[in-house]
Amino acid sequence: MKAVQYREFGTFPEVVEVPDPEPGPGQVLLKVTAAGVCHSDFAVMSHPPEETGLKLPLTLGHEGAGTVAKLGAGVTGLVLGEPVAVYGPWGCGTCTMCAQGKENYCLRAAALGIRPPGLGAPGALAEYLLVDAPRHLVPLGGLDPVRSVPLTDAGLTPYHAIKGALPRLVPGSTAVVIGAGGLGHVAIQLLRALSPARVIALDVSDEKLDLARTVGAHEVVTSDASAVARVRELTGGLGAQAVFDFVGAPPTTATATGVAGVEADVAIVGIGGGAASVGFGSIAYDASVRAPYWGSRAELIEVLDLARAGSVDVHVETYSIDEAPLAYQRLHEGKVNGRAVIVPN
Ligand SMILES: [Zn+2]
Ligand SMILES: [Zn+2]
Repeated sequence: MKAVQYREFGTFPEVVEVPDPEPGPGQVLLKVTAAGVCHSDFAVMSHPPEETGLKLPLTLGHEGAGTVAKLGAGVTGLVLGEPVAVYGPWGCGTCTMCAQGKENYCLRAAALGIRPPGLGAPGALAEYLLVDAPRHLVPLGGLDPVRSVPLTDAGLTPYHAIKGALPRLVPGSTAVVIGAGGLGHVAIQLLRALSPARVIALDVSDEKLDLARTVGAHEVVTSDASAVARVRELTGGLGAQAVFDFVGAPPTTATATGVAGVEADVAIVGIGGGAASVGFGSIAYDASVRAPYWGSRAELIEVLDLARAGSVDVHVETYSIDEAPLAYQRLHEGKVNGRAVIVPN
């Protein structure tokens, strides 16, 4: 089968031919119907594999959807041909976090060498995907796999971050979204669906600010050195009650803490190598900063339910598997509006 692989440090992903995978005991083989391309792949590829612990070559793709193609020995409860989405942050399934469905926070995954598809295990950017356990699959129901596959990360990750801030987002409050790309443009819709907060979106690109407005941002602000002052002005000097930084690079983490108001909740979600500065005088009184990661399986089910209700719609650009390197190229250049989705079959 064809697969999109990160083969060598310092190079772009390429399309190669690899053996068709066979499901072992307990595993499920999916015929991939859609796979999302995520900016965090560049964060992974920008470090030498010795640092990330990745074994190369690696088939990329941590957002996957497919139809059940083959069941490994002992797997029950799935029907061949059934359309499913893949819950990506695989865990051990038995620790106290996994028992709560929070496999994204599995306490033993690192020790056991369990890694998500596309971030250690072979990913979804291929014609077939091997899934380690049926519990990682969520039925898609009537949802279109191409439009909904980004919800497994670009939907779930902001959903999890936003859920933790909802008590702050009362009527009259403000939420700031930094970065209106793949995750950010979904975050704006989730905030509008889940809270009465006023949403202010920040980005460096005018196209992305246009998209932010289209999907529901009340205000848009160019993300530059004057962004903090502009957000303060828009909030009567008070700052925001919740801040979501989907870039996480040094300039945006400074903006994130800079726009935070008293008792604000600041979530640094993007993995751009930045760090928030917290200490008396460097951030508003009693503001909290957290660094969430992905989301729980139950939250993925909730996000898919929101999509079914029409409350969230991902803007997608579609590519064939042979065009996957082009999708990465465009993403790298900041040219993808919304999410790039590969349709391999
Ligand atoms: Zn991602
Ligand atoms: Zn676990």
